Amino acid sequence: MTAKLLVDASYFVVAVLFILGLKAMASPVTARKGIVWAGIGMVVATLVTFFTPGMQNFGLIILAIVIGGVAAWWSGKVVKMTDMPQMVAIYNGMGGGAAAAIAALEFARGGVHGVVFTTLATLGALIGAVSFSGSCVAFAKLQGLMNKAWRLPAQNAVNIVLALVTILVGVGIVVSGDPTPTQIITFFVLSLVLGVIITLPIGGADMPVVISLFNAFTGLAVGFEGYVLGIPALIIAGIVVGAAGTLLTQLMAKAMNRPITNILFSPITGEAQAGSGPTGTMKECSSMDAASMMRYAQKVIIVPGYGMAVAGAQHKVYEMTKLLEEAGVEVKFAIHPVAGRMPGHMNVLLAEAGVPYEQIFDLEEINEEFSQADVALVIGANDVVNPVARTDKTSPIYGMPILNADKAQNVIVIKRGKGAGYSGIENALFFEENCRLCYGSAQGVVSEMIGHVKSLS
Ligand code: NAP
Repeated sequence: MTAKLLVDASYFVVAVLFILGLKAMASPVTARKGIVWAGIGMVVATLVTFFTPGMQNFGLIILAIVIGGVAAWWSGKVVKMTDMPQMVAIYNGMGGGAAAAIAALEFARGGVHGVVFTTLATLGALIGAVSFSGSCVAFAKLQGLMNKAWRLPAQNAVNIVLALVTILVGVGIVVSGDPTPTQIITFFVLSLVLGVIITLPIGGADMPVVISLFNAFTGLAVGFEGYVLGIPALIIAGIVVGAAGTLLTQLMAKAMNRPITNILFSPITGEAQAGSGPTGTMKECSSMDAASMMRYAQKVIIVPGYGMAVAGAQHKVYEMTKLLEEAGVEVKFAIHPVAGRMPGHMNVLLAEAGVPYEQIFDLEEINEEFSQADVALVIGANDVVNPVARTDKTSPIYGMPILNADKAQNVIVIKRGKGAGYSGIENALFFEENCRLCYGSAQGVVSEMIGHVKSLS
């Protein structure tokens, strides 16, 4: 078997591993297996590269693998679950940047010939560069390195003009077939600036959706550059990432009731509802009152949110769940598709704590059941249970599907104070007659509740 045939056959196996891995990632039961398969695919793809006929610079390749591998291993180890979105943003940006760099090198060494090749290389370069610089801005914002809201006068017009000029320069590259260094540099600078300008005004609640969109962009860019380099595994990996990223972006936008065009062109600002929030008083309850309400209930539905993740309270929550079940209470978990700060955030935390999958329900599966629940226990969730999303047309979250926690007989909310949700608006649920607030950090409050449930048993 020639080296070329061996390499191509290995790339085929790699592509199959990527596809099977992604398929397995679709369910929490098989997700871990899926990640391992895709990881093996990535290792095989990297190793096979060394056997590609004509490959040179092995020292540099090994150095890059060591630097990248150590940086990824270390950051993966130390990253907090709540910082995961910015980590996804920066790694995704690196993928886009790598695709753009491949195109830049191919242009510089004159390796791109023919209209189809040049068009795909140029498209990959544009999308990859936008994804790279945009993802870097997203990282800086989520990491708190860039707190100021930037919005240019006539922002949308600036975006459109800049995009058109960049595309025109790109068309110039395709038409010339052999671009000059000035053309190449102008094109890449414009593409990078475009990514920055598009992302700067986007903030708060919309950022994870934008990260997912850039993820889809990166996939596309990688797919195009895979064609340029003639590596089928890269094309397939790019298409898989592009398609998955596009679907995820659509799902998230739908769950937040924010069309993608709105996210990109009319970002939410927290001030949208300042001064016009719900009125009334929030009623407090002690952890003992809450515990006895749940201990003597027939059915309790727990709604976890970002605050549970921050407090790392998932293990305590499951400990309390088991105690309640031993006392004959039916306990279910209701997960909103955008609870927390990344898709599947709550599912991952609950799985980590050992909560069985069959006890965890999606919004559509459980929303009808809240009206039969004696208690809805909201742990560090806010926007995802805010009833103004149903009623207040002026609210920035109007139209977003919410969990019907307010329909339960009693609602207990665990949070530290009167802090608003991620979208920056007040929650009308907290002022309702059937709602009580149990103040404190989630881990501490649930620990107290566990003690009380035990004493009541
Ligand atoms: P949320 O609206 O961000 O509210 C979290 C609440 O947790 C806050 O009101 C805060 O109140 C409380 N909290 C913070 N630390 C706490 C602690 N240690 N213990 C107890 N409570 C604590 O959370 P959410 O209901 O999960 O909603 C998620 C938001 O993120 C939505 O607006 C969604 O659109 C947005 N988002 C999510 C995704 C995603 O993929 N998941 C993507 C894009 C956007 P206190 O400060 O008073 O404690």
